[in-house]
Amino acid sequence: MSCFSYYRRRFLHFYAEHEVAEHPAVRRAAQRLALRGAKLVTAREQIPKAHRNDRTLVAVPTRGSPVGRCPGSRGHICCNYLTADLYAGCTLGCSYCIMQSYRNFAPLVVNIDTYPIIAAVRAIARANPGRRVRVGTGQIGDSLQLDPLFGLSRELIEAFADEPSVELELKTKTDFVDHVLDVSNVGNAIIAFSLNPPELVAQEEPETAPVADRLAAAERVAAAGYRVAFHFDPIIRVGEWQAWYRALIERLRTMPPLRIAWVSLGMVRFTPALRDAVPPRRFMFDEFVPSRDGKLRYLQRERVEIYRFMRGTLEQALGRVPIYLCMESPAVWRHVFAGARSAPVGSLLAPLRLPQSGS
Ligand code: SF4
Repeated sequence: MSCFSYYRRRFLHFYAEHEVAEHPAVRRAAQRLALRGAKLVTAREQIPKAHRNDRTLVAVPTRGSPVGRCPGSRGHICCNYLTADLYAGCTLGCSYCIMQSYRNFAPLVVNIDTYPIIAAVRAIARANPGRRVRVGTGQIGDSLQLDPLFGLSRELIEAFADEPSVELELKTKTDFVDHVLDVSNVGNAIIAFSLNPPELVAQEEPETAPVADRLAAAERVAAAGYRVAFHFDPIIRVGEWQAWYRALIERLRTMPPLRIAWVSLGMVRFTPALRDAVPPRRFMFDEFVPSRDGKLRYLQRERVEIYRFMRGTLEQALGRVPIYLCMESPAVWRHVFAGARSAPVGSLLAPLRLPQSGS
């Protein structure tokens, strides 16, 4: 994808709330969209109905608690991940995206002021001496889809470069990385790529970057000094899935293992609300059972088999890399990592303490 021509084609309207009208990131984005400026509104509700769709961007001040815990899932192991909401919404069109079942405001929202996020993460680091603070911006949107326009990730990378315990993760299904390659001190920032085999990307992730482009981007960021991470999530069992995933993992052999911060594995899962909200997909006709958190998943023993296949294939290709499971039960963790060469990411620790803002 070529960034700016992509944005000009994809987004037709750009609004900003008055409070952030003069923010440098708003001006930067307007210029890159070849606009004189953003259209100003006092609140996002003022955006005309005809423009309340996913062709509209809206910049707003960062309000409320800027950093929180990953919601995790009841009855499943938490990996102590914190989330910072920078970009809310996404147009990459994944068929399984949970946001389709709950998001009721279609424009993509940009929380334009990074300072509250930086201050909150620093306070968490101070309140948890000796602990790693993993924080990511890819929970309710793609970390980098809009980033070349607004340039907010650079502010976070640079701010946390001198915070040795903070691991900032930018997670993407794009190859939009070139705008952060020249950051001189990347500290512990990690650029993460969600991966699925090209056969599945073609079916289920229609507007994302081709896998080859994501992997080429991973090589560029690693060469620029970042650590990288890979998320196989959601793993989907359709067609020749084993051969497809094996071939994909083989392609990671070119990555220097020491530059891989972690690999996460997550099985396809969805709520009944999501199933009812999207057109039927081939993968949904498999056998699913409700879990304790209400989500539908493959049977536990089948998930274990799939995870063990993925873990073994990753170990053959990459040796000992940190691997963790996303939203899985303690029993599945035990079965998957029994006798493993790979090291699960430390996730069985007490939750991080989150001070109230200002403390
Ligand atoms: S990239 Fe992530 S946020 Fe965007 S549609 Fe896909 S799953 Fe949803």
